[in-house]
Amino acid sequence: MRIDIFTIFPRMFQSPFGESLLGKAQERGLVRINVHDIREYALDKHRQVDDVPFGGGPGMVMKPEPIFKAVLSVYDCSFSDLEKLKKRVRVILLTPRGKRLDQKLVHELANEETLALICGRYEGIDERVREHLCTDSVSVGDYVLSGGEIAAMVLVDCVVRLIPGVVGNQESVSEESFTCGYLEYPQYTRPADYRGWKVPEVLLGGNHQEIKRWRKEQALKITRELRPDLLGEE
Ligand code: SAM
Repeated sequence: MRIDIFTIFPRMFQSPFGESLLGKAQERGLVRINVHDIREYALDKHRQVDDVPFGGGPGMVMKPEPIFKAVLSVYDCSFSDLEKLKKRVRVILLTPRGKRLDQKLVHELANEETLALICGRYEGIDERVREHLCTDSVSVGDYVLSGGEIAAMVLVDCVVRLIPGVVGNQESVSEESFTCGYLEYPQYTRPADYRGWKVPEVLLGGNHQEIKRWRKEQALKITRELRPDLLGEE
């Protein structure tokens, strides 16, 4: 998979993408992540990427030209190729106005060959970018971040871990929260008794049938307690 990220703060990605699973997935060639600085595609000598909003109002809005220019030149396209480009690349605008990211959408995106992620700042991005350049608008939750970079990191992290081979044991990603429609069962490790707080007996007995049944019960119990909406019980 190839992921291109368009941002005015490219350095923000260095550490999160250099460590752990994401770092290793790149080293092993399972994913190629390129971070592009939108400012380098600004048209004027001051490299201006924002301007005041038409109609008035607070703050600044990101200009469309540097963003179109960045995306088109990274994929070696012209404006006349836009529709073709959108057929081969999912061009995703990170925005609180987007479709809320969930595990279903994550699975869908993990099957794509190329993702382009556009990160906004300030009051957001000129609407023509969403209308004419993007295939999707995605939000990471019903709250407002100061920029799209952290949202892009969230999306990249959960998509990349679904690429076959990234997570060592494939069962880890097929049996986890949301994938089966509910939250995961509680997990314990050694010591079996910590300050008198004991690990449930059933997990120590080695009866796999019993353990499976207990885990299913616990998963449903915790989902009912914390996220009844997942069971349609709200
Ligand atoms: N004025 C915008 C609004 O009210 O919808 C919010 C702009 S926000 C301060 C700046 C940028 O952060 C957005 O353009 C977007 O890229 C990113 N952002 C903020 N919240 C986000 C969220 N929940 N999901 C994805 N991106 C978000």
